[in-house]
Amino acid sequence: MASSLHIAGIRKVFGKGDKAVEVLKRIDIDVEPGEFLILVGPSGCGKSTLLNIIAGLEEPTDGELLIAGKNVIGMPPSKRDIAMVFQSYALYPTMTVADNIGFALEMRKVSVEARKKRIQEVAVMLQIEHLLDRRPAQLSGGQRQRVAMGRALARDPQLFLFDEPLSNLDAKLRVEMRAEIKRLHQLSGITTVYVTHDQIEAMTLGSRIAVMKGGVLQQIDSPDEIYRRPANMYVAGFIGSPT
Ligand code: ADP
Ligand code: MG
Repeated sequence: MASSLHIAGIRKVFGKGDKAVEVLKRIDIDVEPGEFLILVGPSGCGKSTLLNIIAGLEEPTDGELLIAGKNVIGMPPSKRDIAMVFQSYALYPTMTVADNIGFALEMRKVSVEARKKRIQEVAVMLQIEHLLDRRPAQLSGGQRQRVAMGRALARDPQLFLFDEPLSNLDAKLRVEMRAEIKRLHQLSGITTVYVTHDQIEAMTLGSRIAVMKGGVLQQIDSPDEIYRRPANMYVAGFIGSPT
């Protein structure tokens, strides 16, 4: 069962007094169960801060945050049932691919049998069955990224958060992995928020796009709507709409 995500009036201020900087200014976003939402905007606009708040790695200064209708503010990250994939996929170098994927399950005391079954399922989804006995150093960049996704997927989380996961890959691999992430989302149906600063990635991946600038949400709409009816000049320029 996919979970909804409700973000309302989220603010984040870093620093105090003269040094205070409001990095997020009252962000409102509702993500439907099973939706793939893209969060796009230039570097420094607050994308990672918002993801970190959803994941519980940062607390908001203000606002409401509900996952599957449940208030998660103040709840530790480990209790939020969220999987996050970053650009630097920190796999455990001494563990095999299978153990990397199964690690979170082991932590949760899932039985050896159930773990094996889940590792196998995830490996099939990601087409990495032939790599299960290898170690991270014996994998290509794209394969490592797949394993990182497998590890996130194995727990069957309520929410999937991606923070620019493809920015370390070369152009060809990026296109390939984009398709892979899309397929994975269709297979798993897990509610996803995907952060990128890449317009093309935004326009091709998501069913809806949230465009941010300077901590303010500029527009949230389908790629088609954003292209045809940009809310302002900034969105038009960023997405490359005809003006
Ligand atoms: P993005 O992911 O869109 O590039 P970030 O969310 O990483 O942007 O950062 C938004 C702004 O908040 C930036 O100006 C950044 O310098 C600032 N920032 C991020 N984290 C902190 C922090 N822990 N302390 C102070 N400022 C921060
Ligand atoms: Mg970032």
